[in-house]
Amino acid sequence: MATSDRVRERIRELALKLALEDLDELDEEDGDCWLDAIENRAIEIGDALTAALIEERSRDRPCAGESLCPQCGKLGRYRGSRERELISRRGPVTLAEPEYYCPACRKAFFPSDPGARH
Ligand SMILES: [Zn+2]
Repeated sequence: MATSDRVRERIRELALKLALEDLDELDEEDGDCWLDAIENRAIEIGDALTAALIEERSRDRPCAGESLCPQCGKLGRYRGSRERELISRRGPVTLAEPEYYCPACRKAFFPSDPGARH
């Protein structure tokens, strides 16, 4: 069995366990019928998983100690990480984003790809 198949099977196992626990309290009024209510709940779980994955992975992304200032093109230094609220396709997420400071412009900036070396 390929790794991706194993991972997919594990996700199915864990997600189903979580979803079934959650569905114990399912209110069929949450949809037009029981099937709609289950689908609505599954979509909510998927959205929550997407947000959790983005939040988790954004904290682990490598970032360079320096990055080019988008305004003047000089090097700015990494100053730390800040949290930013975004609207993803699956709803709001909190992203950890590296912040740089440009001494020439005396401004903070946030490169679109902080992992890239310039
Ligand atoms: Zn600058």
